[in-house]
Amino acid sequence: MTAASRVLVLNSGSSSVKYQLIEMTDASRLASGLVERIGERDCPDHATALARIADELAHRGLGVDSPGLAAIGHRVVHGGSRFTAPTLITDEVLDAVRELVPLAPLHNPANITGIEVARKLRPDLPQVAVFDTAFHTTMPESAARYAIDTETADRYAVRRYGFHGTSHQYVSRRVARLLGKSPEAVNVIVLHLGNGASASAVAGGVCVDTSMGLTPLEGLVMGTRSGDLDPAVLLHLHRVGGLSVDEIDTLLNRRSGMLGLCGDNDMREVGRRVAEGDPEAKLAFDIYIHRLRKYIGGYYAVLGRVDAIAFTAGVGENAADVREAAVAGLEALGIDLDPALNSVRSAEPRVVSRADSRVAVAVVPTDEELEIAQQAFGLVGKAE
Ligand code: AMP
Repeated sequence: MTAASRVLVLNSGSSSVKYQLIEMTDASRLASGLVERIGERDCPDHATALARIADELAHRGLGVDSPGLAAIGHRVVHGGSRFTAPTLITDEVLDAVRELVPLAPLHNPANITGIEVARKLRPDLPQVAVFDTAFHTTMPESAARYAIDTETADRYAVRRYGFHGTSHQYVSRRVARLLGKSPEAVNVIVLHLGNGASASAVAGGVCVDTSMGLTPLEGLVMGTRSGDLDPAVLLHLHRVGGLSVDEIDTLLNRRSGMLGLCGDNDMREVGRRVAEGDPEAKLAFDIYIHRLRKYIGGYYAVLGRVDAIAFTAGVGENAADVREAAVAGLEALGIDLDPALNSVRSAEPRVVSRADSRVAVAVVPTDEELEIAQQAFGLVGKAE
């Protein structure tokens, strides 16, 4: 019999579970899917959702009890300062993830539930947590700390953790390969532009700064999140506007960003409106781009030398107009986009800058599931 070479990747959200079964020998997807609307009548809880996924896999002859399954890899959003690498899940690890719930009250509880249910399903199988924050734990203190009173910061674990780490890690490595170099040899600015959005500065394969902070609210303008703003805005809204903490939370996380600025959080719709000459959409687009360019410039200075700028996620992979506006006029920094290459649509990783551009501009479709599977498989392999 051949060795177990498949990994089931689970991404448990508060009302959905996404899964992929990946064959590691060739990275092929044997099955993938999504169970939505957990908590409603059809699917009251995560246990039902996972049972449904297990049934679906069994139906296709790929059941979770098959000997080919080497591990289950779980996406976990917040690993705090403790989890710097993929981690084999034990009771103790699960307790530590529970302790981090106050830092990610929307995400970690769902991740934990997914893990608990999966462990019941296959108690004997290695289960691995892959943290969204782990890739960023290499940030120097100068980038990770906020300039607030140290004792207060330490007491409440207030520091910059960063998110989307699995994507930043995958894309920074993949773009190095695209350039025919090793990750250690290149400095990369990764722009993960999806509904949530973040930038990172990666020096020789190591993350040295990222735009999200204590929570995924900091940084770039996103679909529904504000990104950076003067913290006194919150105080002002509370004191002068009388908004409660929960109202401010909802405002900044769910009613801001592109949605708050122009009423649309989908960049396709924003692009369509801009093309029609809609001034509200144009201003929202300009604010989005202005913030993005500030991060590109900032991370250029952080890195000193930049070999590549890699665009990824829904907007980064698909919106040629966003990529063009983000790097327009930066030839003096060695960034020289090729408009023809940039406008080609493709699902493949590709360079879209001119051949003589000192900094390669690339589009690299992200693959967080594959990265999670590889990290989980690598850990299980090592443990054997
Ligand atoms: P993600 O969070 O990575 O799944 O990205 C989702 C976002 O990608 C959507 O909200 C859209 O705004 C954006 N998106 C997807 N396709 C396109 C496209 N063709 N052009 C512009 N934006 C797109």
